[in-house]
Amino acid sequence: MHMTPTKSAEPKFYNIALPVPLHGTFEYRHPTDLSIGLRVKVPFSGRELVGIVISRCLQPSTAPQKIKSILSIIDSEPVLPQAIFDLCRWSAQYYLHPLGEVFAAALPSKIKQGAGLYQTTRTLALASTEPRPIAEAHVKRSPMQLALLRALFEHTALSRGDLKQGQWSSAIIKALIDKGLACWQENIEANPDPGPHDPPNSAIQPTLEQQLAIDSVELNSHKTYLLYGVTGSGKTEVYLRLIDQVLRAGRQALILVPEIALTPQTLTRFEQRFGRPVVALHSNLTDQKRSEHWRQARSGQAPIIIGTRSAIFTPLARPGIIIVDEEHDSSYKQQDGFHYSARDLASVRGVAENIPVILGSATPSLESLHNVTSGKYTQLLLQSRANGAARERYEIAPIPENQKDALPDNRLFDAMAETLDRGEQVLVMRNRRGYAPVLFCSNCRWIAQCNACDARLTVHKQTKGLKCHHCGQQHPIPNHCPACQQSSLLPVGDGTQRLQETFQNRFPNYPVIRIDSDSTQQRAALTQMIDSIQQGNPSILLGTQLIAKGHHFPNVTLAIILEVDQGFLSADFRATERTAQLILQTGGRSGRENLPGKVYLSSRLQALPELRALLKNDYLAFSKNLLAQRKTYQLPPFTYQGLLRADARRPQQADQYLRQLLSQYQALDPDCEVLGPTSPIMEQRAGWYRSQLLVTAKTRQSRHRALKQLSEHLSQHRQPAVRWSIDVDPVDLF
Ligand SMILES: [Zn+2]
Ligand SMILES: [Zn+2]
Repeated sequence: MHMTPTKSAEPKFYNIALPVPLHGTFEYRHPTDLSIGLRVKVPFSGRELVGIVISRCLQPSTAPQKIKSILSIIDSEPVLPQAIFDLCRWSAQYYLHPLGEVFAAALPSKIKQGAGLYQTTRTLALASTEPRPIAEAHVKRSPMQLALLRALFEHTALSRGDLKQGQWSSAIIKALIDKGLACWQENIEANPDPGPHDPPNSAIQPTLEQQLAIDSVELNSHKTYLLYGVTGSGKTEVYLRLIDQVLRAGRQALILVPEIALTPQTLTRFEQRFGRPVVALHSNLTDQKRSEHWRQARSGQAPIIIGTRSAIFTPLARPGIIIVDEEHDSSYKQQDGFHYSARDLASVRGVAENIPVILGSATPSLESLHNVTSGKYTQLLLQSRANGAARERYEIAPIPENQKDALPDNRLFDAMAETLDRGEQVLVMRNRRGYAPVLFCSNCRWIAQCNACDARLTVHKQTKGLKCHHCGQQHPIPNHCPACQQSSLLPVGDGTQRLQETFQNRFPNYPVIRIDSDSTQQRAALTQMIDSIQQGNPSILLGTQLIAKGHHFPNVTLAIILEVDQGFLSADFRATERTAQLILQTGGRSGRENLPGKVYLSSRLQALPELRALLKNDYLAFSKNLLAQRKTYQLPPFTYQGLLRADARRPQQADQYLRQLLSQYQALDPDCEVLGPTSPIMEQRAGWYRSQLLVTAKTRQSRHRALKQLSEHLSQHRQPAVRWSIDVDPVDLF
């Protein structure tokens, strides 16, 4: 008799996203129906990979018999809620990045590798199916094994705690398992019900402005708000009040902060206010902790989640609000691999989940201000300092023409001494880390250069090395000039390490605390430094721009920014915006809590017009001017950019590759312009020679079409020696 296979036995095909740097999804077969969003294990190029089911594939592109089978199904429910699943798909499309890699960036590494979606605990369970006397007869010669078996018959299962308390050795446990009498069991931990959220009432009374901002936010809408509040105006209080309302409605709050701002102090502040544990998500957590916190967010157990950039993909069971603090901060844009902007994705996610998004800053990005003007965002204004303290006063301190170093002059040193003697703190910002930015031969004018980058090497005194800040290479400091063999080498210029030495010699009675990426490599070290600053004892806080990022220093009354001109003089069209933000953010650290602040801008007067404009007007007027310039020159946010970067080991190779691509590219769209290939200012970096094409378009659609066309062409004409990437909405063109 001829048997036709029943319908259910017919294989079904699925498109699976895999964490590989290739666009598109991959086809696999499975006999049963699978839900979208499940994680599965599949064979791929001789390996086993964990992928995500994206869709049913009705017409496979390859011959069905060639399609491999899914090895196993990991989940019984989708790994991500629909909104985050959609956000990932949207991101892959918008940023033109492989979908599987987007999912990989969105998930904690343990989850990505297949770990369970729920927290589990291990218990030792009874495995014997025989009646108790027969089972016990198997171990009658070992009193300890017998005792453990009896305990299992009495309690059915023993937790790790029980086993520890009963002092059962692992040998005894193993013996019972080997005899088939016991086995380990993974149990899903019941999520303790977080209970009704009833945060304690705060004693702080919001100001009229704060109350107006709070009342303007519609919690059941998907609007994005730009909370523009001058430093000290109490943005955080607005956040806290909104989170309070969200928690009372039984929902969760997700707060994004710049990388450096997420310290235990930030967490403590939230925990104290709400009397609830706050979970953190950032790259310094162990994989174990990270997936634990992710599970707590996903299950709804954690009411408040604070994280850095990648936390924007955290699934929430009951989303209520997303807050992006210091929204202008460049750390929200991922600079390599998957080039997403967490700030921009927050707004997209808000719409998908129908929740409000608050972007807060004292110096908002021009993009966000433009979005207010065009009606996309709603602006909330806090223009006065919450405690009525006077705003900081700025003064330009010209650097004498004959002075080569960046050191403060005598007037500034006097101001520092007076401030310290009054028992207050001084903050000095110098945007150059290391000891000296140049090692120079006074005999033959040789300069130490990195052999892998078009860059000078920086002298680092503590590690006694020459370090490249672009590729990380280190060399010992030579005793003699490699060119002329004389011992005539001089470190030239001042980095933060050298300034620390200078200040320490000049003010031996006060500590000098240095905050830069060398001194804060350990999160614990940063925490310790910030702790000691917050104790308020007279001291000098010295640092790179890291010092201006979102910390609350209550006793700083004098701020000095050394050589402010440099930032304004860069070729990057965003330089003026960034430098202005940096000056106001640094200045804003001074003069809080009833102590008026003074800010000195030490300047070579090369960017005097910019400086005067910044200090004369408020930031809003200054940024309006900048926006007008951007409009005139048709720069973002009035146009949309995309960057196609190519790198190769041999000079000219990447450039030729892009040139070839461009010669075959048909520029049909009049709204879109492709510039290049050009070399970035630093053509060689970390041994790679770089070249790039800049796409500028009048609409997002035409930019997308052009980039997609270019990337498809590159995918089809791969050159193994050239690697390339696409950066949509680039913030760094050099
Ligand atoms: Zn020399
Ligand atoms: Zn280098």
